[in-house]
Amino acid sequence: MEAEVDLYEYQARDLFEAHGVPTLKGIVATSAVQAEEAAAKLGTPVVVVKAQIKTGGRGKAGGVKLAHSPAEAAEKANEILGLKIKGHTVRKVMVAEGADIAAEYYFSILLDRTKRRYLAMLSKEGGVEIEKLAEERPDALIKRSFSPLDGMTDTLARDMAYEAGFDEGDVAKLVPVFKKLYTVYTEEDATLVEVNPLVKTSSGEIIALDGKITLDDNAQFRHPEHRDLQDHGATDPLELKAQKMGLNYVKLDGSVGIIGNGAGLVMSTLDVVAYAGEDLSSQPKPANFLDIGGGANAEVMANGLEVILSDPQVKAVFVNVFGGITACDEVAKGIVQAYKILDSEGIEPKPLVVRLDGNNAELGRTILNDAHLPKLEQVETMDAAARRAAELAN
Ligand code: GDP
Ligand code: MN
Repeated sequence: MEAEVDLYEYQARDLFEAHGVPTLKGIVATSAVQAEEAAAKLGTPVVVVKAQIKTGGRGKAGGVKLAHSPAEAAEKANEILGLKIKGHTVRKVMVAEGADIAAEYYFSILLDRTKRRYLAMLSKEGGVEIEKLAEERPDALIKRSFSPLDGMTDTLARDMAYEAGFDEGDVAKLVPVFKKLYTVYTEEDATLVEVNPLVKTSSGEIIALDGKITLDDNAQFRHPEHRDLQDHGATDPLELKAQKMGLNYVKLDGSVGIIGNGAGLVMSTLDVVAYAGEDLSSQPKPANFLDIGGGANAEVMANGLEVILSDPQVKAVFVNVFGGITACDEVAKGIVQAYKILDSEGIEPKPLVVRLDGNNAELGRTILNDAHLPKLEQVETMDAAARRAAELAN
């Protein structure tokens, strides 16, 4: 699992709202019809339809559009859904109340790991990419390092705002917003809270219009509710399935499915298969990493095979087991049972090469031979088995 979790804008918006940061209402939609309903529900004269993807610069790429009626919101959603922005395909939009923007600012709090401190940044010139601002107009970006023990005090917030060039009236409105954003940062265990733009409306209100939050995954035990914020849609569906089964699986690009016991063995199996594939016309490569662990039983083997066989890219599977604590006869029984489970689920077997070595290898091989499983071959050495699996995938 990754150490940090980037949230979607709508999720950041929800957390802002929960902590009292002023935001505008927003509703997520995955179709034009839903967008139309959302706009009608919001009922404001102007709504904004915003692509929900985990990258910035959506505005420039056509991923943020204003609409003046529910019908127009549907139209804009239609244009935005399916767009590809910086390699991310838009599958969701947020329909939000439109803001009447008088000025756009920038504010962020982030973790400075090397200093073990926090860093707050503020600029009166928001809405543009922060990297660009930092490079072209570094003086316009106020940076303040501060200790987690002190936090975002009134003094710090006020100093920053004055230094950035805000007048007294704006400072008074900004200080409580900065402090609430700091509450989001600490209470949600974030490593980044960024608002770009933080806007002043024509009526003088301060509103967080676009938010980015990165959560520290190491703190997830303190936040069971954060689990739901993780983006299952963005990870591979097979990885998700494997994750649900508790398997240590990583999807790769090739056509040779791999199952082994022990991370080290699986790693070297990947190498041996990749090497064997180099000599063949289609250059078959490993399709995945899957470690079924030391105490693998039949169910784990069946789950592993199920995940691998449901990968349409897989043409052949290599089961490479070195019997240790779990003896090879147990593994063999597991494979036999796995076949039964898969058969009952209507999952077609694919060519399967099994190499059993180590504890009770002979017995394991006999069990597999006697079971006469379709499309299963046994090969005694790892190199030869890898070559055979690659050939079958070729
Ligand atoms: P980003 O381009 O991915 O950072 O998306 P933003 O949410 O920051 O939107 C980009 C720009 O669109 C903002 O800087 C605003 O200028 C504009 N924008 C976003 N929402 C609204 C809105 O509700 N009303 C108006 N008038 N402009 C908006
Ligand atoms: Mn933005």
